[in-house]
Formats: sequence, structure tokens, C-alpha cells
Amino acid sequence: MSAPRIEIDLAAVEHNTRVLVDRLATRDVRVTGVTKATLGSPAVAAAMIRGGVAGLGDSRVENLARLDVPVPRTLIRSPMISQAAQVVRTASASLNTGPTVIAALDDAATQAGLRHDVILMVELGDLREGIAVDDVAAAVQVVLGSRSLRLLGLGANLACQNGVVPDDTNMAVLHRIVEATEARHHLTLDVVSAGNSATLDWALTTTRLGRTNELRLGESILLGTEPLRRTPVAGLSTDAFTLVGEVIEVAEKPARPWGNRAQAAYGEPPVCIGRGTRRQAIVALGRQDVDLDGLIPPAGVTVLGMSSDHLVLDLGDHQVGVGDELRFGLGYGALVRAMTSPFVTRADGAGIPALGPGVTTTRPPAGSLLA
Ligand SMILES: *Cc1c(COP(=O)(O)O)cnc(C)c1O
Repeated sequence: MSAPRIEIDLAAVEHNTRVLVDRLATRDVRVTGVTKATLGSPAVAAAMIRGGVAGLGDSRVENLARLDVPVPRTLIRSPMISQAAQVVRTASASLNTGPTVIAALDDAATQAGLRHDVILMVELGDLREGIAVDDVAAAVQVVLGSRSLRLLGLGANLACQNGVVPDDTNMAVLHRIVEATEARHHLTLDVVSAGNSATLDWALTTTRLGRTNELRLGESILLGTEPLRRTPVAGLSTDAFTLVGEVIEVAEKPARPWGNRAQAAYGEPPVCIGRGTRRQAIVALGRQDVDLDGLIPPAGVTVLGMSSDHLVLDLGDHQVGVGDELRFGLGYGALVRAMTSPFVTRADGAGIPALGPGVTTTRPPAGSLLA
């Protein structure tokens, strides 16, 4: 089989989804499954749907376009104006933060003869996307005054930019705005989308759930971890994704380099410890394939460094030969990089051409030796 490749345990993804959907159902909270870390993998999306998600979300409209599914698709990043027409055709809803984009969506939806649902995101302190509390009422007016948009609800996102933890205090702000909006316009908002996997613990334990009725979950479903402390969530599988790489060199090498030392390929070189020699392997994996942050080597193997194309390992006592395959676990950053690398193959039905989306090749001229 070809390497590097990602192996996906779809049964584990389905299991994780079902466990989270069932736990949150006891609190009347439904789940939108977030596929963005898998490049919008149709196979992963299907596993999430079997596990019971109410809808799917992705930050890229190109990923949503790949998902031919019987549940609503939500764009969970504020749309680019340049993609407004594609967004209203592909997604039934999008998360929004500003009147300029909302006006562009309204134009696009009207022109296409479509309705598009809007969830307005409220700033609760993490300072990534979100409308300042005092400006939410004006944004609501813009949506309510539009021709083709419907105000589906309000939402919030914490923990991504500044690590702000969801708690009763910041969530109460969201619920106050929900109630003020409903009272002022005599309407009921369908969706209060309180957050991502970082909001899971709060949603399952708080006595002040308020109007929260939806979470948007990616990491917890895919990796079985929560993002605040990157700890495993009880009852979930943490090894649904495995990156397989092939060993291209094994040698006994000195533990310490020699010569004058300056920077290495990616900044400061590693601190060298130990004496004598060690059994070192090179795996044909690099930063073009995976992020070192979140790459989990097999037990007893130590990562010494990684450049664009070479992963250098201390094999310890392991008997490994050239041509052997080694299996790595993946944290969030490593998963995203591996799933989006054109060099890493995966069997997930995405049908993405070898060079990946957005990459075009120029045809060699007739008669070229490369043809
Ligand atoms: C990525 C993202 C999510 C999902 O986050 P996880 O931590 O992977 O659950 C939810 N909402 C928004 C707006 C996102 O960007």
C-alpha cells in the first residue's frame, strides 16, 4: 500500500458521534458535526450522520460542496463576499458577523431565488469572530429587513483564539441577548449554537444551560479529546485516525552532531542529549505531510526532529528495517495538516485528485519528455 496514508476507523467516528449525541440529547442539545479537519470527507460525514448528528458544518464551502447529504449543511466561518453565490447554493445556513457580508448573501440568495438561514455570532470574550454585544440588535435588524435571509438563531465561539473557557458567566450573556432579541421582535429563535468541543464539558454539567440547544462538534467526535486541556473524553475512542509512514533509512548514528552549529531547517536545532550512538531511523514524512505538533510516535520511539520531508526518530529498542511502516497517532494540528496534504493518501471516498483541491497542473507541451 502507498505511504504516507491516513487510515480512518469510521466505526470509531460513528461511535464517538453516537455517544456525544446521546449524552447531549439528555439535555435537549443537538449536534452539528464539524468535518473541516477532514477536508470535508464524505465517508467521515456519513459516519457522523449514522451516529445521529442533526446537521453538518464546515468552515470551507469547497468542503461542504463535497458532501451530498440528507441533513442541513452550515458554513461555520463568515462567508467571503467573493463566494456569496456559491455559499447560498451550497449551504442552507451560515454563521455571520457583519452587515456587509449579510447584504452580499441577501443579494446572492435573491438572485438565485433561494432562502438562506443566518446564525449571528456574538462576541463573548475570545475575540475571534463575533458581533460586539451592543451591535447585535443592529445586525438582527439587517437580517430581519433582508429579502431572502432568515434569522435562524444566535451563536458563539470560545477557546479558539485566546483560550477563553465557556462558563455560566459568558454563556449567560448569550442567553440574555437571545431573550432580548425574541422579546423585541416577537419571535422565537430556532437555534442557540453555544460553541465547539470546548463547550462540551460546560453543556453536560451546567445547571444554567439557558437556551442552548446546539453544539458544533469536530475534535471531540474525530479524536475523542476536548480542546481546553486536550484530555480524552470518557467513553470515546481516541485512535480513529492513524498516519502510516514508511522507513527509508535505519542506521546507528552518534548521539551528538559535530562541527559549528547554527540554525537547522526549521529554526533552532534540537538540544542533543546522551552519548555514544543510537539507532536512528528516517521516515518519509515531513512538514509537507503533517504537523510535528500532535504527531504521536509509537511507544518507545522518540521524535528527534522533522524537516520538510524527513522525520528523524530514535528507535530505542525497536527492531525496524528499511521499507517497514510505522504508525502514528494524530492530535488536532497534525490531523488537519495530514488530511489537507496532497501527498497523504486516504480511502474516504472524497475523490480528491492527487494534487488536492485548488491545485492545477500545467500540461507539458506536446513532444515533451514529461508527457
Ligand atoms: C472549528 C469550529 C468548530 C468545531 O470546533 P472543535 O473544537 O473541533 O469541536 C465549531 N465552531 C466553529 C465556528 C469552528 O470554527
